[in-house]
Parts: sequence; structure tokens; C-alpha cells
Amino acid sequence: MTGSQKNVPRPIQRSHTLLAHWWESGARDLPWRNRSTTPWAILVCEVMSQQTQMSRVVPYWKKWMELWPDAATLADATPAEVITAWGRLGYPRRALRLKACAQQVRDRFNNQLPQTYEELISLPGIGDYTANAVLSFAYGQRVAVIDTNIRRVLTRVFTGVESHGGATKPQDKVLAEEVLPGQAQEAVVWNQATMELGALVCTAKNPDCSQCPLNGVCAFLKAGCPGLGEGRTRPRQHFRGTDRQVRGVILAALRELPVGSSLPMNEVDNLWPDASQLGSCLASLDDDGLIEIVGGDSIRLPG
Ligand code: SF4
Repeated sequence: MTGSQKNVPRPIQRSHTLLAHWWESGARDLPWRNRSTTPWAILVCEVMSQQTQMSRVVPYWKKWMELWPDAATLADATPAEVITAWGRLGYPRRALRLKACAQQVRDRFNNQLPQTYEELISLPGIGDYTANAVLSFAYGQRVAVIDTNIRRVLTRVFTGVESHGGATKPQDKVLAEEVLPGQAQEAVVWNQATMELGALVCTAKNPDCSQCPLNGVCAFLKAGCPGLGEGRTRPRQHFRGTDRQVRGVILAALRELPVGSSLPMNEVDNLWPDASQLGSCLASLDDDGLIEIVGGDSIRLPG
């Protein structure tokens, strides 16, 4: 037993051991979990997997890292190239923020992703979660990482109540710190394994408790899973007919064009039947820097 583990309550210690064993055999073999993955590549993966399932991210991440293996190469890419490579990952503003981040990493940090929270959080598109994820997964530091999956698992296992989603609360951070293993390497495995357990086993609506490595220590299971599934405070937004769908249709049409080409407005008009919604989506894409409106009679990806 390490010095830092001496005063750790037994259920917490036991959960560390159980989850570490499960991680060895139960985790998915995702390409960025290779030891040779660079910190920059881990950041790209983290940005891509915000709001997008990891399994969907895999082909995009692989292609992206082939095209732009580090910050400097991405910094030199055109906005049109990064929007095209972002494909159907959704929320394409993330692609432009990643490029802006790459420019700063190249210019301010000599093409090396920084290793402190303060420096990471100063970069475009990097918030509290991403900064902590990079410190843990890329640099092996002892840092509590909190995303929706981790929060759900920790809340259920250690407090015995359902996690209610929404923004991270101070008590979520306190709990995550309290149960984080004392050794940095074990803390990294704990973060990864808790996140994976939340994605694969301890899901929001249908946790597979019979297959869960923590079923012997989980306070939520012991209490009979009170309020299971009540955690979702916002109903999932339907995609069909939303501005997100319309914006996606417009960008998909532009990605199909030869590099540097424009789409005439009469063809743009055919992309969506609701002219008013189409117009407002064109305006918002223009505001976000994701398209250019050329002389009022055609649109294109920004050069
Ligand atoms: S026992 Fe069930 S509720 Fe508890 S962590 Fe495992 S899957 Fe989640």
C-alpha cells in the first residue's frame, strides 16, 4: 500500500482496484490509447469527442492526424480544408477553434502543447474539462477529470443517488478529488476507466449492473437504483428540421465542391424548402466564419 492510500476508506480503495482490473480487459481498443500518441493528438481527440461519440470520432481522427500531425501543420491549413476534414462530426465551429488553438501553440509555445492548466486554458476552445483531460491523459498528471460519464459513475457509486446532469457543480469536483487515487499513474487509469465505464456499462438509462466491476461497492445499486434515468434535465433535442440540420446540409453541399469553388445562390435555394430558415442559417454560418457569401450571389467555404 502506498503512503497516500493509507487513509483512504476501504470502498474507495476497493473501487480503484476493481476498476483498474476492468480497464485492463474491458476497455475499447481505441487508436489514441496507443502509448505513442502525442499530447497534440490527444487534444484533437478530446475536442472531436466533445458532443460526439468516440466510436464515430475514430475515422475522422485518424485522417485528421495523417493530414496534420501537429499544431504547426494544422495552423497552416486553410479554414476550408479543416471544415471539409471535420465532415459530419457536428458543431463545426470546433474545427475552426482547433485551428486557432494550433496557431497559438505554434506561435506561443514553439509547437509544443503546454503542460500547465493556466496555459492550456488560455488557448482557444480549451475549457476546464479539456485542460484537465490533457493534463491527465497526455501528461500523466494527478488531476481529477469530470465529464458527464465520470460524474454519473462517481455520483451513483459513492453517494447512492442519481446524477442530475447540467453544469458541473462544486460538490462534483469535491467528490472527484476525494476519490481520486493518490498516485498519478493510478489517477490517470481511474479517470480513463471511470469515463469508459460510464460510456459502456453505467449508462444514463440502462446501466448493466450485473456486468459492472463496481457492483459490489456501488451505493446506488445497493439502494435499489432510486430515480434511475431521471438524470436527464433537458430532453434530447430532435435533429430533423433544426437549424443544426440546415447548417449541416449547407456545409455538406460545399464540402462536395471542387476546392475553391462556389455554390450559386439558385442552387443554395434548393437545399432547404423553408427559405426563411435557410436565410438565417446562411447568416449564422457566415457569422461563425464557416462560409463566405461571395458578392451576394454564391457561397463557398472560407479560403
Ligand atoms: S453497479 Fe450499476 S449503477 Fe453502480 S456503477 Fe455499476 S452500472 Fe453503475
